[in-house]
Amino acid sequence: MNLLIPSTKKENKKRAITSLNPLKRYRLPLKAFGGTLMQPVVVAGDYVRKNQLVAESNSPFYNSIHSPVSGWVSSEPDWDGLYLSIKNDFLELEEDKLYFDPNDLSGEELLLLIKESGIVGCGGAQFPTYAKYLFDGDRQVDYFIVNGTECEPYLTADYALMSEYPEQILGGIACVQKIIKAKHIVITLERQNKELQKNFESSSLFASLPLAIKIVPDNYPQGGELQLIKTVTGIELRKGVLPSSIGIVVNNVATLWEIYKAVYQRQKYIERIVSLSDKEKALGGNYLVKIGTPIEEMLKYLVPEYDDRNIALVVKGGPMMGTIVEPLSASIDKGTGGLMLLPQINQKIENCIGCGYCVEVCPQRLMPLEFIQQTSNSNIPHLSKYNVNDCIECAACEYICPSEIPLISHIRRGKQLISMLKKGKND
Ligand code: SF4
Ligand code: SF4
Repeated sequence: MNLLIPSTKKENKKRAITSLNPLKRYRLPLKAFGGTLMQPVVVAGDYVRKNQLVAESNSPFYNSIHSPVSGWVSSEPDWDGLYLSIKNDFLELEEDKLYFDPNDLSGEELLLLIKESGIVGCGGAQFPTYAKYLFDGDRQVDYFIVNGTECEPYLTADYALMSEYPEQILGGIACVQKIIKAKHIVITLERQNKELQKNFESSSLFASLPLAIKIVPDNYPQGGELQLIKTVTGIELRKGVLPSSIGIVVNNVATLWEIYKAVYQRQKYIERIVSLSDKEKALGGNYLVKIGTPIEEMLKYLVPEYDDRNIALVVKGGPMMGTIVEPLSASIDKGTGGLMLLPQINQKIENCIGCGYCVEVCPQRLMPLEFIQQTSNSNIPHLSKYNVNDCIECAACEYICPSEIPLISHIRRGKQLISMLKKGKND
């Protein structure tokens, strides 16, 4: 997505986390990892309390979602079952919390708590976190990598979190360590954020764990799971191979903060930090937002003159891997780390000039230019030969392309063609 506004990262990094005031209504996304839909366990008219389970699914892994407020379930799932609406009564009545001493919990009990708190990866893919800690037999975990590498331009939610809550992130790391007992724990920080190192090192918890900090280059997509594993361990993992199969666990810092809150505050995954960037740099910042917040209502709340502004597009995520929000009544989900507001841009697509820039930047050592013609021709053998399925969709090739060719669309189409062929063979 080659649509740029001036970078707001420098300004946003200095802005403290601000809580968004409660809204009248929340629309909880029911889509879970793998594309399946969670099934509501409440019906229209039910009264729910904050932190109460409202929907769950078991496929391909257990997923759940909880109410961020107390109030009434206002309708059956809408938009083909994609959302469940809760009308806020502003009473903040919470579900009864079981008392336990976090220090007494065993690894198995912590694993169950993480599972039942609806915690998924906060980095975007929303893979259920507990499933990352399931290992075959006596598999030893060699590396537990804590991803503090927020390499997408513009995004600052993780930076804000590491600035304000390092102790809580370390608390989350200690909980996970009790489950996986890794030989080494490595927190990765980009060189441009190395001032955060002292935040972690000054905590007494830091010294009590087998912890080290690794400063990594500022390059994009350094924060991608495969790139991070290579930088920390030297191991090149093929896309699709689970890190756990070679004794590696990678968690985002925001995920560890959620684990801390689940264990020490008995809070479900009902809110997250979202960074906001806009051209005027006026409303940019880092906001604590409830899961299920309708994006348009959030923007209207933050920008009173929102309706009059020349905002053509809202992008969920960063400029490289983000997706356009359509329609705006879609909600903040557990993987939304940022929103970008973009003015109207006229993109002019030219033919490929064979400059090779896309090949140079590809972290997976692919040849993106090979996918352009071949997706149009549905040339599946060619797409397979050039390993289109190994693409991690980081968008570095599209960003660098001087002809502004929408390479990601070609790549997605290529992957779709291969999967359709495979499905046809299996049917
Ligand atoms: S082909 Fe493009 S999107 Fe895919 S990994 Fe390479 S640079 Fe990233
Ligand atoms: S960067 Fe764009 S123009 Fe250059 S080779 Fe790649 S696809 Fe072609």
